[in-house]
Amino acid sequence: MNETPAEEDARGRDFIREVIHNDLSEGRVTTILTRFPPEPNGYLHIGHAKSICLNFGAAKEFGGRCNLRLDDTNPTREEEEYIEAIKEDVRWLGFDWGEHLYFASDYFGQLYAWAEHLIRDGKAYVDDLSAAEIREYRGTLTEPGRNSPHRERGVDENLDLLARMRAGEFADGERVLRAKIDMASGNINLRDPVLYRILHATHPRTGDTWCIYPTYDFAHGQSDAIEGITHSLCTLEFADHRPLYDWLIEHLPVPSEPKQYEFSRLNLTHTVLSKRRLIQLVEEGHVAGWDDPRMPTISGFRRRGFPPEAIRDFAARIGITKSENVIEMALLDYCVREILNKCAERRMAVLRPLKVVIENYPEGEAEELDAINNPEDETAGKRKVPFARELYIEREDFMEDPPKKFFRLAPGREVRLRYAYFITCNEVIKDDAGEVVELRCSYDPETRGGNAPDGRKVKATLHWVSAEHALPAEIRLYDTLFAEEEPALDGDLAQALNPNSLEILEDARLEPALASAETGTTVQFERQGYFCLDPDAAPERLVFNRTVGLRDSWAKIQKQKQPKKG
Ligand code: ATP
Ligand code: MG
Repeated sequence: MNETPAEEDARGRDFIREVIHNDLSEGRVTTILTRFPPEPNGYLHIGHAKSICLNFGAAKEFGGRCNLRLDDTNPTREEEEYIEAIKEDVRWLGFDWGEHLYFASDYFGQLYAWAEHLIRDGKAYVDDLSAAEIREYRGTLTEPGRNSPHRERGVDENLDLLARMRAGEFADGERVLRAKIDMASGNINLRDPVLYRILHATHPRTGDTWCIYPTYDFAHGQSDAIEGITHSLCTLEFADHRPLYDWLIEHLPVPSEPKQYEFSRLNLTHTVLSKRRLIQLVEEGHVAGWDDPRMPTISGFRRRGFPPEAIRDFAARIGITKSENVIEMALLDYCVREILNKCAERRMAVLRPLKVVIENYPEGEAEELDAINNPEDETAGKRKVPFARELYIEREDFMEDPPKKFFRLAPGREVRLRYAYFITCNEVIKDDAGEVVELRCSYDPETRGGNAPDGRKVKATLHWVSAEHALPAEIRLYDTLFAEEEPALDGDLAQALNPNSLEILEDARLEPALASAETGTTVQFERQGYFCLDPDAAPERLVFNRTVGLRDSWAKIQKQKQPKKG
């Protein structure tokens, strides 16, 4: 895995890496162990990528290890499909957990034993209050809670009730196990939090072995302790849970004592990064699936043509802090362009074709011209592009009555066809509706390769394809999924969507070299942007997704932000 300069820079640059560095150099830990702990209730998004890059990245930098742990404590929302997708996405990003794939469900037996341990120590009790009553008893931020009437049950009764909960004697919600901490605590998480609830549901991994399941709060820190995690990294919303995690670690005979550190979540403009919202987008059919190229999911970005290096580079550039902010989507696009500019091969593609007939080019003949695959990379070599009498150029590269600054093709004007010849437009042919349907042009055979021996200049170079050799294709142009930078999500999600997030061009024509394009490889269509072959493509009908345009809106934003020089 090659690091980008930003990734190299990120080494040791944030407060978490500083903590790790100090813990190692001062001997508090000998090997660092982190984990990425997704709940398998959806596909991973770019926010998760930030966490993956931090956990796997820091572990690697400091010679430690990172576990992949599926936090599968909620059987009703979890599916095998998500587990496989998570594994694929982490691998695709370039990270490897080796043998260390774990599941919180692996620890159900141990967690149950620890629940009994807490009961025996008088630190947990079975409560008969309903969920609504528990909420009511909990109090508020300004008012203390009240003790449950069942709080003082004896140890034996509690052990018996927990065993009967486990044996399936009670219905969902009838009883819970709660930690006995402090109903008056200023931290609501310490007001006797629920440790176990009854759920008669089949778990994807443990099947029907259990009908009680540990809460996330009970499973999380203990799972870390079982695995020997040294630095448990999570997002800021868990800072208030840390006192509870510490309390549990203190009162249980756990094999290790993980320390938790919190950093701010990634927020990105023009999208949503919450699995609940993403599930809604998929289920309500606003997108074609989790990997719809407009989705902020790792699988969506992959299908769109983003290279994994670009996502890692993005994560390194945004860094790790404790301050909440919203990152411009344009920065991610910028990272994608930076990588693709170096590695994507160039091709010619006409997205909205206009026919050109070269009247002085012999009928039935064709020739092959040399085209450079990547001006940024000599080793990418050259390819042949066929040229013939009938061509297509981009519709927007011609204007019958051009305004002053339009330098491309117009009646009587000469332009260069990339890698080919100078052509001059002699005649414009229109249909009955007055729309331009064909241009009759002539070429100068002396300009083969793109230069005139007499030194005359042209002001524009156009891309083109040979009509007879071109491949038909569908092109999918994407815009942001949401119209606003920060979509208002209190109302209807559908209302906030960008109605123009997808435009389909049915009739594009591509140079024949693209017949061998591979799904997932991104190329640059000259003058248009970067495009990636979609899995929907068939040999007789290629389908390309626009990964990102060439225009660099990020650089523009940066410029606007700089004070004007006086
Ligand atoms: P969501 O709110 O999207 O449902 P989550 O936090 O519930 O996300 P998990 O599967 O529990 O999703 O997350 C796994 C890990 O990824 C956690 O450590 C979590 O803190 C981290 N993570 C989730 N979203 C972000 C984000 N936007 N930025 C950074 N880290 C994130
Ligand atoms: Mg979560």
